[in-house]
Amino acid sequence: MNLDDVVNTLGRHLKARYGERVRKLSLNAGFGCPNRDGTLGRGGCTFCSVLSFAADDGDAPLAQQLAERRAELKRAARYIAYFQAYTNTYAEVETLTRLYAEATASPDVVGLAVGTRPDCVPDAVLALLAGYRERGYEVWLELGLQSAHDETLARVNRGHGWAAYADAVARARAAGVPVCTHLILGLPGETDAHAVTTLERVLDAGAEGLKLHPLMITRGSRLAVAHKRGEIEPPELPAYAALVGELIRRTPPELVFHRVSATARAPTLVAPAWCSTVWPAMQAIRADLDLHGGQGTRLQATAA
Ligand code: SF4
Repeated sequence: MNLDDVVNTLGRHLKARYGERVRKLSLNAGFGCPNRDGTLGRGGCTFCSVLSFAADDGDAPLAQQLAERRAELKRAARYIAYFQAYTNTYAEVETLTRLYAEATASPDVVGLAVGTRPDCVPDAVLALLAGYRERGYEVWLELGLQSAHDETLARVNRGHGWAAYADAVARARAAGVPVCTHLILGLPGETDAHAVTTLERVLDAGAEGLKLHPLMITRGSRLAVAHKRGEIEPPELPAYAALVGELIRRTPPELVFHRVSATARAPTLVAPAWCSTVWPAMQAIRADLDLHGGQGTRLQATAA
């Protein structure tokens, strides 16, 4: 299922730049998280499960992880090294310099994507990433925001508010580093209206990319306990697809969607069951976009 004709997906963006398919290789470099170790908070975000990261081999050398991920994926000629697990800027810049260089050493790695928290992006890290961009790499700073609402961020124990995100994005833009913002739809206490406001604030702040996730209940997370008690439910697929469609229609055509849903591996996933594979969400989102319009069409309708 392909959305490229109605959404500016990362796949479409990369194909336009490189003329062929480019795949992301997920890495676990063994970073920690300041929201777990007591530096910024304890216990982590309520939706986060260390088990989902534990499935990746954080002990293996990066070259080995890259080789294994290449073998798992369908063949591609070019790749992006994606530092995904935990907080991938949470180390001295000398350590980051070494790890990023190790991950991009192979000539077929043409890009670097780094997932982190907005309050863990010092200027020295931005300068490091900007250096890769200047050398022609495809670079993405992937910032976990999840919601633009401080009440929600406090409720899920993010350990930062909107202000930290706005500051990180402003500095990233000044350094010339593109930002992909991660959002979770269906967080406790949030409605569709919260998600629309979050999108508007993120677009105003100036992100270049978006990654949308449904709230997933994963084994070992604090939300899994609340879910077991019957206190929270993740979104149903039809409601999720309709909200994603609406957000895509309200997003300018040039912004790059890195992802519009998410999956979790068994037995980590508790709920919703439709997140066990990517296809139900892709089909439902595709149907919504076909029916109501693709990326940016709500903006055009509003402007007209
Ligand atoms: S989601 Fe990220 S910031 Fe939150 S606890 Fe997990 S690793 Fe830390």
